[in-house]
Amino acid sequence: MIDNIIFDLGNVLLHYKPKEVLLRFTQDAHLIDSFVKDINGSNTWLELDRGTITINEARDYFVSFYPEKKELILQYFAHWIEGLTPIQENIDILKELHEKGYKTYILSNFMQEPYDILKNKHDFFSLVDGKVISYEVHSLKPEKEIYQALLSRYNIVPEASVFIDDHQNVLDAAKKFGINTILYHPEVDLREELRKLNVSI
Ligand SMILES: [Mg+2]
Repeated sequence: MIDNIIFDLGNVLLHYKPKEVLLRFTQDAHLIDSFVKDINGSNTWLELDRGTITINEARDYFVSFYPEKKELILQYFAHWIEGLTPIQENIDILKELHEKGYKTYILSNFMQEPYDILKNKHDFFSLVDGKVISYEVHSLKPEKEIYQALLSRYNIVPEASVFIDDHQNVLDAAKKFGINTILYHPEVDLREELRKLNVSI
């Protein structure tokens, strides 16, 4: 029986659309593509999620590495968090599960300052029974330590849990612990997938 529902944040509870933020500052599609690859796809960005550098350190590093993109980097760092907007239908599911007595959790690769801002902005954060965010444990999904941190911190039985994420490799790592998984995409009927696991929703 499933008692615990674990949610990813990016593209499960919050849309993550860096390109839409960049479109406010440039119409150059090629520049936007290379920017997202160079910045969001960089190891430095991952280190932000890992909590080993600060946002300002990362911004200054990117400016020194890509001086020709300085203005766009500064604009992006000032506004990228605005591209994280609620996926309301999934937040509604989380709220419903909470009301029905399921334990709900967040397991996310995310950085501290934006997390603190979003936590104060959206009420669903106060409903969850627990969370592990990569910056606080210095470990990123799919590394095993971040899953262990969640399971041990809240005494979660893996087999009585389901994890909803939008990346298969992240779910594959969860499966190794015995956690049930749902691969989420916008075309997935999340309620139906939960019902297949006998979750009452
Ligand atoms: Mg995600």
